[in-house]
Amino acid sequence: MVPSSSRTEVVRAGVATDTAFGAVIPPLYLSSNFEFAGLGLPRKHDYTRSGNPTRDQLEVALSRLESAAGGVVTASGMAAVTAVLHASGRSRVLAPLDCYGGTYRLLSAYHERGFLNCSFVDFGTDDWAAGLGAAGEALVWIETPSNPLLRITDLAAVIARAHAAAAIVVVDNTFLSPIWQRPLELGADVVVHSTTKYLNGHSDVVGGAALARDPELVDRLRYWSNCLGLTGSPFDAYLTLRGLRTLHARLQQHERNARAIAALLVQHPGVRCVHYPGLAEHDGHEIARRQQDGYGAIVSFELRDPDQVGTVVDSLRYFSLAESLGGVESLVAHPATMTHAAMPAAARARAGISDGLLRLSLGIESIDDLTTDLQTALDRALQAVDVAEEVR
Ligand code: PLP
Repeated sequence: MVPSSSRTEVVRAGVATDTAFGAVIPPLYLSSNFEFAGLGLPRKHDYTRSGNPTRDQLEVALSRLESAAGGVVTASGMAAVTAVLHASGRSRVLAPLDCYGGTYRLLSAYHERGFLNCSFVDFGTDDWAAGLGAAGEALVWIETPSNPLLRITDLAAVIARAHAAAAIVVVDNTFLSPIWQRPLELGADVVVHSTTKYLNGHSDVVGGAALARDPELVDRLRYWSNCLGLTGSPFDAYLTLRGLRTLHARLQQHERNARAIAALLVQHPGVRCVHYPGLAEHDGHEIARRQQDGYGAIVSFELRDPDQVGTVVDSLRYFSLAESLGGVESLVAHPATMTHAAMPAAARARAGISDGLLRLSLGIESIDDLTTDLQTALDRALQAVDVAEEVR
């Protein structure tokens, strides 16, 4: 559990700190630059790309939740990924086969250009460790649960193996947020977030963060974010901090809805299989129970008949067909043509992402509406299959 004191601190981040007017909610500092107190006398901040008071507040709140020494708030999740790749100084990267499509694209592009050597591996077997190379050479990139198949990686086991080879371990914690999983407490070196998702939670900001345990690595993250111009805008930081204040409360409802939807999907005859770590039959259920404080609110499933994907998504009323996840509104995505379209078909097949796979991001709407809506859409798809079989 995130200590209740940290949750309280996040709700109250910056509250009643305004000395000019006593504003309860901290002011937003949009200024791109800051006046020097005199020649050779800079204040805490001089230029917003390098540092900004509003962004600082978000960095502090996120670091508190993730038990980090500090970090950087970036313009997107991919900017945070980029900052980590540069700050790590590692030339060899081991990343999961089914990592987020944008991460896959960036790592592949860097690999093809010779900037680094990247292998996509399966952390579910022991074979991956053969790619660690010489001591201190590798960066191990983990996403757990993975996107979109919700595979669970045993963090303690992979971190121990990676650290034995002096590798830096990074965990993309976007799918769970620090409320449900805190990788740094399990020994990881860096945590990455697309704050676009649960941390902001309202689908109106694109942002990211990279947070580290070691202050020296935090300094390197800051250096590279400033150097490459990756830092986020103050306005986005303001909105994200506003969303973060309700994170804990929102996630309770997100997860209640996910559990109910997973239970519905499991019993539907039109569904071939359901991927949700909260289900006892999920391969990673036991590890998830051990290392997570919640099972999350992303559920993916495969239809028996991939030709019915269109019928399902067109029939849904309360699930918008859209990229992204983690907002208060429910979404449905078709990974093969949307989130993971950047992956070549062969890589998708290797990762197990089929054309019949749909991914749901459960929002916080009334569960009765969501279950009725999904049941109706799946029934309609099943009827279409029956009709097609009769015609044949
Ligand atoms: N990591 C994960 C797991 C994601 O799902 C995403 C985006 O969907 C990203 C990173 C990239 O984040 P952003 O879109 O904010 O750049």
